Amino acid sequence: MKWWRGGRNASFALWLASALLVVTALITIGGCFGGDEPLLEVEPTPTPPPELTAEPSPKPETPLPTEEPTSTPTPEPTASAAPNPTSQSTLAPLPARLSNFTMPVQGACLPSSEALMPNAPRAYRAGVHEGLDFYNGYVCTPVGRGTPIVAAKSGIVFRADIQYVNPTEEEFASLLAQQQTQGYTDPGAFDTLRGRQVWIDHGDGIITRYCHLLDVAEGLSTGMQVEAGQLIAYMGNTGILEGATDPNAELHLHFEVREGAGFIGEDMSPGAVRQLYTRMFGQ
Ligand SMILES: [Zn+2]
Repeated sequence: MKWWRGGRNASFALWLASALLVVTALITIGGCFGGDEPLLEVEPTPTPPPELTAEPSPKPETPLPTEEPTSTPTPEPTASAAPNPTSQSTLAPLPARLSNFTMPVQGACLPSSEALMPNAPRAYRAGVHEGLDFYNGYVCTPVGRGTPIVAAKSGIVFRADIQYVNPTEEEFASLLAQQQTQGYTDPGAFDTLRGRQVWIDHGDGIITRYCHLLDVAEGLSTGMQVEAGQLIAYMGNTGILEGATDPNAELHLHFEVREGAGFIGEDMSPGAVRQLYTRMFGQ
């Protein structure tokens, strides 16, 4: 250290000052780079991996437990509820008097057209259709002249038009002209236009009507107890103008489910009517 002790002069001081400046600068620069390098290149690099590896692992772990309990109960109600309970859970159960109906034509389904459903608009009959029309091509099974008609539910027969004579074409024309003149269809004309009929009283105020029948089943009579699915009549086209001259015109069953003075589905929307009858027939 001889040179240090003995060299106390201006040049040494200048050198020292310069050296200090250089050192200070180096420290400052080194500090900057030293801070940047580890932060940008070392720290950030390892940080993402741990973050990436850490995030994925907790994520699946967290969702899994949450999804499992959620997905477990969801399938259960969906699987068992989707077919029937969806309606059962959202709608009150149907009363017994409106439940467990059987199709009046075996193998049939509800008419595919809304125009053949209850409460469908009509240019006659006070503007609405009061029952279901079973026409060939619309009810899942072939139907036609003479197709067997069965009781839609057990009950008591209280009308069976065994002795029935279909109006002639002239009588139909006269009847229709009279209704047009008076401006409305009276109950008597309505009844004539339903043709040969069978009515069954199911109790609890529910009555079913089977109309335009070709014939009533042999042995059927008023006051007789019938069971659901029992043969009561055959499909025809009585009470229909076209049927007076053409035995194959307008062949169909007009079937009504009535309660009191009205019919089931009265004042309901087409969708609501279909839903109700679907439930009534358990379809
Ligand atoms: Zn009808």
